[in-house]
Amino acid sequence: MLQPLLLSSLLQRAARHAGDVEIVSRRVEGDIHRYTYADCHARAMQLANALTACGIQPGDRIGTLAWNGYRHMELYYGVAGIGAVCHTINPRLFPDQIAYIINHAGDRTLCFDSSFLALVEQVAPMCPQVQNWIMLCDDTACPATFKVPLQSYETFIGGHPQQFTWPIFDEREAAVLCYTSGTTGDPKGVLYSHRSLSLMAYASAMPDAFNLSANDAIAPVVPMFHVNAWGLPFSAALTGAKLVMPGPKLDADSLFELFEQERVTFTAGVPTIWLGLADYMRRTGKRTEVPMRAVVGGAACSPQLATSLRNCGITAIHARGMTEMSPLGTVCSPSRTYADLPADDRARVEAKQGRAIAGIDLKVVGANGEELPWDGQSAGDLMARGHWVIDRYFGADKCALQDGWLPTGDVATIDVNGCMQITDRSKDIIKSGGEWISSIELEGIALMHPEITMAACIACEHPKWDERPLLIAVRRPDSTLTAPELLAFYGGRVAKWWIPDDVVFVSELPLTATGKLQKLALRQRFSQHFVELVHLSRTPAG
Ligand code: ADP
Repeated sequence: MLQPLLLSSLLQRAARHAGDVEIVSRRVEGDIHRYTYADCHARAMQLANALTACGIQPGDRIGTLAWNGYRHMELYYGVAGIGAVCHTINPRLFPDQIAYIINHAGDRTLCFDSSFLALVEQVAPMCPQVQNWIMLCDDTACPATFKVPLQSYETFIGGHPQQFTWPIFDEREAAVLCYTSGTTGDPKGVLYSHRSLSLMAYASAMPDAFNLSANDAIAPVVPMFHVNAWGLPFSAALTGAKLVMPGPKLDADSLFELFEQERVTFTAGVPTIWLGLADYMRRTGKRTEVPMRAVVGGAACSPQLATSLRNCGITAIHARGMTEMSPLGTVCSPSRTYADLPADDRARVEAKQGRAIAGIDLKVVGANGEELPWDGQSAGDLMARGHWVIDRYFGADKCALQDGWLPTGDVATIDVNGCMQITDRSKDIIKSGGEWISSIELEGIALMHPEITMAACIACEHPKWDERPLLIAVRRPDSTLTAPELLAFYGGRVAKWWIPDDVVFVSELPLTATGKLQKLALRQRFSQHFVELVHLSRTPAG
């Protein structure tokens, strides 16, 4: 039987086979909303009727500016289910970037949470082709007069039947559109098909990946506007797991309360979120009653973070992805190869980004494109291919691949067990006297220091060595740690010539819209540090 892989079938299955399982959402309004997969399916069908009635055609893009919540879930399935494209937009971007993305995608309908009303006010004049502005609320919360005509979501879907026959179409049709965060140049669109998202949902649920089941209560902290919350709204429906949506409240206190109240077993987010939660749990001594697994991705999970989480009863699962890979590529799941290792060695393995999940293939290549050995030492450009990897950006003429593989922009090693470790972003690597220094490794060592909470290492122009590492770090509030003390901490941990030439302490580090270190901003501010200081007291020894 040939049945196309369509997202509507995931929700349909959840409604039929896990119809009474809950989807719990903390709403922008502050309260907790509860309903079931059966309710979600009924309302997604109601939305599908409303969209069809207002003339939305297959292939049309519908923008969303929304937190994780049940209405966003209905949009995911209702929009994609009729063959239209759910275009999730990151509200943390600058308004003109958001307008660029809306215009580039050709969105004519935009659905947004009430907390983004002021943002919409700024963006709307720059997006004249948007005809429908829909606020995700009921009529009472919708302002009567506004810069552009508004309607509430509840009014939009209200009155339409909750029965709909999901159309059957080619599984290669587009379902979701997401833009990269554009830290270099304009944001680029990445279009996901029903087939690619369905296959990733299956693969990510497998035991050596996220190991999801109907017994789980999944709380995606990673936003639904950041690469589909790493596919969790799909894999949760697929497995019939309970879904817990944190809405806009991502502070440690609110997350802990929600996890505890809803007995969450599985969650996912960037390291910044988990650093905050681990710190909160350490300070308050609070523990969740239920053991939890937390996927740490988007940036490296340091051994210190994994240990801090473990001390709180949370198992860190290190994973690596990228927008262009839907996003999931590797998961560092426990394997029999590592199980018997001493704790220190195991921690070193757990700091790796892991093995390619089924459906993804990886390789590292040298300067001439030759494949490098899987020896855990040879670092080269990481290349990927697989069922949910792009071949070109949305609207681009040019294919993004090289010989059938996507260059990821990461520099990595792969060990004999197929376990991949990112050693740097190719644009962040520090080239000192013709040799490469890994900025990530230097940051990792700084974070091992008990008085350092955040660290970024960047290449600074240097009159003699072309580039030298500069460490920019945030100390604990009460710390009096000095730069020489921190640099001494590197002794014996890396080759002498890798040790940063200087440290600048700052009160906070800039983060991108997806919560990662914004190294571009740091480079702009500090790239002339050594030239300005003519700080040559310590030079590379090797
Ligand atoms: P952007 O590239 O705009 O930051 P993505 O979310 O697509 O947006 O980021 C992908 C990149 O994030 C990867 O290429 C990699 O450099 C980094 N990344 C993702 N997960 C990890 C991880 N577990 N460890 C280290 N880096 C990671």
